[in-house]
Amino acid sequence: MTDLHVHSQRESNLLSMPVEIRRAIYAYIIHGQTHAFLSQGRLQLSVCLQPSLGDDRHDGRERKPTAEGSPDTTWARRLRSSWGAHWGCEEAAYAENLHEHGHNHIYNLLFVCKKMFLDVCDFVSERTAINIADLDTLDVLLQTPFELSSDLNRPWNFWDCTRPAIRKLRIALRLPLAFYEALQEDENLVSVTNHNTSVELNKWARLWPAVCQLPQLRSLHIWLDHSNIPSWSFVNERVALRQVIAAIMARMQACSKERTTPRMDITFNLPKLHPRFARPDTHFFEESPPRPFYIERRIRQRFHCEELANGNLDVAYKADFPVMHEYPELCAENDKELQGVVGTALREVDMTLEQVEDFERMLWEEGTNVYELITEMPGFQDEDAAYMRRP
Ligand SMILES: [Zn+2]
Repeated sequence: MTDLHVHSQRESNLLSMPVEIRRAIYAYIIHGQTHAFLSQGRLQLSVCLQPSLGDDRHDGRERKPTAEGSPDTTWARRLRSSWGAHWGCEEAAYAENLHEHGHNHIYNLLFVCKKMFLDVCDFVSERTAINIADLDTLDVLLQTPFELSSDLNRPWNFWDCTRPAIRKLRIALRLPLAFYEALQEDENLVSVTNHNTSVELNKWARLWPAVCQLPQLRSLHIWLDHSNIPSWSFVNERVALRQVIAAIMARMQACSKERTTPRMDITFNLPKLHPRFARPDTHFFEESPPRPFYIERRIRQRFHCEELANGNLDVAYKADFPVMHEYPELCAENDKELQGVVGTALREVDMTLEQVEDFERMLWEEGTNVYELITEMPGFQDEDAAYMRRP
């Protein structure tokens, strides 16, 4: 969009200020992160509440409604959110959508005038991180826009103006475990017979090169999980990330040929590895993959939504590694109780969560079934054992 079509707005105090000052003002109004999502086939914007992406206190319990008498179905629905850790952002987005953007400052600013429209597009693409939580939104966002300069009649479109200048993209995908299995089958040249899965695989294959063609992209954050109860470590991470890494490497090679090597930060946020199921040939251990990739590991959701046979939703508990995570808390509680009874500290062996992880990893690696140990039920079959025994 050229300045020829934009009124100078010299009579406006705000719009006559230097651009740096205008941006400093917009920073008070526009959050550092936004969400893009599809509603009725159109891309929409909403705020990101910037939740914790996964620590010991954010394992699903924080999604339980605090209001007395709230049904567990609300909790279960939140646990099922395809937006994962951004479940609260999803609720905010759809509530905001009902108000026809009345509460979204970005939309309010866009409608002031063309000059402010361009200011806001620049600000959002250059200064904020755009979060996307599903493949369809990403696919629509990355579709090649019309050539703006040759189509003066095309209405002013926020995404057409913002897309080419996006700097920070945060993608959070919580896909069915079956999708990751299909990626593996595809890798093994087993033809995928399910039509819907096949469509999703094609989308997956085309969108990573498209992400990497965003010319101004400098920061890419990818959060992945699957939406089923068994351990994350049943996903072959090397297959899941192969196309992403290949697309990024291709971009870096192209840049080095053109002798333009802009710095790009790439982070994968993945659940902690389960020592019983993860293997170096299928998973990324500490020393891999090579720079510029960086892997953050997080505690995976421990509370899950379970759909009962009658269609009702319920909440189920199943911890991924570490399953002994409650041990530090139990020690602290026991210490308190003992102090009250005998007036002295008869301390058990205090362990931090990191020490518990090391201890539990050692147990798994030496062949102990830690589930059996903590449930004190020999032969206990959890969802991981059931997944392993699937036909
Ligand atoms: Zn969010």
